Formats: sequence, structure tokens, C-alpha cells
Amino acid sequence: MKIKNIDVHVLKSQLETPFAFSQGWVRQRAATLVEITTDTGVTGWGEAFTQGLETPEIAAAAIKSCFADMLIGENPLDIERLWFDMYHRSRDFGRKGAVMAAISGIDIALWDIAGQFYGQPISQLLGGAFRKVVQPYATGFYRLHGQGEAGRLADEALMHYDNGFRLMKVKLGFGVDDDIAVMDAIQTALGSRDVTLMVDTNHAYGRREALMLGDRLADANLRWYEEPVVPEDIEGYAEMRARLPMAIAGGENEHSLYGFKSLFTAGALDIAQPDIGSCGGFSGARHITILAQAFGVEVNPHVWGSAIAQAASLQWISAIPTTHHSIFARQPILEYDQSSHPFRRELTTAPLELQDKMVVVPDAPGLGITIRRDTLDAYRV
Ligand code: CA
Repeated sequence: MKIKNIDVHVLKSQLETPFAFSQGWVRQRAATLVEITTDTGVTGWGEAFTQGLETPEIAAAAIKSCFADMLIGENPLDIERLWFDMYHRSRDFGRKGAVMAAISGIDIALWDIAGQFYGQPISQLLGGAFRKVVQPYATGFYRLHGQGEAGRLADEALMHYDNGFRLMKVKLGFGVDDDIAVMDAIQTALGSRDVTLMVDTNHAYGRREALMLGDRLADANLRWYEEPVVPEDIEGYAEMRARLPMAIAGGENEHSLYGFKSLFTAGALDIAQPDIGSCGGFSGARHITILAQAFGVEVNPHVWGSAIAQAASLQWISAIPTTHHSIFARQPILEYDQSSHPFRRELTTAPLELQDKMVVVPDAPGLGITIRRDTLDAYRV
């Protein structure tokens, strides 16, 4: 089997109602999707993760101008070799960001091909499923104005609860006092309901304010506090871990085994959150997962991409070993963003659904999804 062609589909969709996270206003949905065809007719799909403020053309250009030519004619089952070939080729100008996202999108598609070739779900190729259902958590609580939206966000928490979510992640980073007002309103609205919260400031603050927020949330029983400081401030992460009671999470803006090695050796994280669409695909995810295991760090993937990224993340989550084993050990959970996104709901024939508050990991070969060409045509740039 040989790689015959690599197509990149750049999709965009303008949002009817723009929303904000701490770093800016999201006005459009965008995706960089990779389709790899082989000479035997097997086709694999991947996705290069596009951040909320990122244009999808950057990773698309890297795929087309940097990696496509070197992959045509190669055996798509040589995944580990091709991953390092791509990494070595791009080391001096890549290692992070959109170039790593490009490698990730290609790698996901290669694993999808391998799954179909061997007739197995990717979780099987990764070594087998530790879990076949995954509890999802609702990511949401974005802002429509910026500040002063505590009442509306409390109502949103009740909506997620009614939709079956018992885990929710609240976007903070809009000023510590506003953040606390939001958390107070959400906790009051939820009352005695059995819900665990997480918070994510998207590195809105420097160390002093990040610590202040963490101190004021000390009694909120948070599962984690995500991206408290900028990804470059690895020592700041370690300081948060030393001085705050809750678990510190991060890593959606870090990449590859080399990037995570720096975080782990510095003691920066309780919970690592690589995104499969930018950390290096399944191969990168596998490297990081094993490295994390050696450092006793939990891995809980970040997911904000399309239905392809969701499907890939589910296969990976299924195959992540429990970090701290016990009969009641904490299991990794699936980030399920609840903001409007046509490439999540319309890209595959079977979009993600909750069944009894859980998500079932697909067991069809590869990613276990069927792409809708009409959706590609409708949103292609
Ligand atoms: Ca985040």
C-alpha cells in the first residue's frame, strides 16, 4: 500500500453570535481537515487543530508545501517512521504551533488508514481499550458581552445539567472579581446538584492574579484549574502547583514529547492536556501519554476541533492508562464543547450523542466515522 494523494479541506463558517474567551472574540468556526488516499482505495481522515483565533490556512500551507511531497509514495503503515521524518524535516522552523498541527493532522489520517487496513478501531492498535464509555464534560460559559454575565452563565449551567452533564468547565479570565461573581452564581444555581466544576482562564493572568483567583476558589472543589498562566511560564505553573490546593492543568498549547518533557521535568502539571490535533496526532499523543505515566502526571486530552478531532480524542482516551491506579481511580474525561459548531454536528453521519450521560467509543475500524461530503462542499473555502 502506498500513499497516493494528500488533500487539505479548509472549512469556515461565520458565527451568528460571536463569543469571547479571555484571549479574544471568536467570530468564525474554522477547520483544517486532511484526506489521505492510498493506491488500494483506503482513505484516512485527520484534522490539524485550529485554535479559536487562528486562521486554518496556516496548517494547510504547512501540509501542502512542506509535507505532502515527501509522503507521496510512502507506505502509510510506517507511521512512527513518517512521524519522525516529518518532525526532523521541520525541526528548525517547526516544533510547535501550526507546523505541529500539520504533522498531527497527517498522523491522525495515517492511523485512520491503519485501522481500516487492519479492520480494528484505533484504540485497539494503541494497545487496547481501558474504557469503552467516557464521561463527557461540558465546556462553555463563553461571554457574549465580556463582563457582568453571571446570571446568564448560571442559567447555562442548569441547561448543561438538564442535558446530562455532571462535569462542567467554566471559562474565566475576565477579571478576578468578575470571575468570582460568575462562579458564585453558578454554584448557587446548581445548589446541591451532583456537579463537579473546572475552571479555565486561558492564561489571562500573571502569577499574582492567577494565585489570587486560585485562593478565592480554594473551597470550590474544582477538578482542575486550567492554563492559569501563559504556556511559556513553566516556573509559574510549578508555583501554582506548590501554592494552590487544586490540581493544575495545561498543555493545549504545548506540543510533542519534547515540549511535554520540559513541563514534566519542571513539575509544572498535575494534569496534561495535549490536543491530538496539535500535539503530534496519535503518535505524538502516544509518546506524551507514556512520558506522563513515567512522571505520574494524568493525561486528559484537550478537544476543541471538529467531529474528526472528537472521534480521534475518543479513541485515544479509550487507550490512556490510569495514572494512579486504584479500584476507584479517576478516569480521563472527554471535553465536549457546547458552543455552536457546524463541523461537529454536520461533518459525520453520526455526531456525538450522550447515552445515559456517557459517550460510547466507536468500535468500527479506524476513527469509526463516515465523513459527509455535502458538509465539506457547503463550508469549503
Ligand atoms: Ca482550555
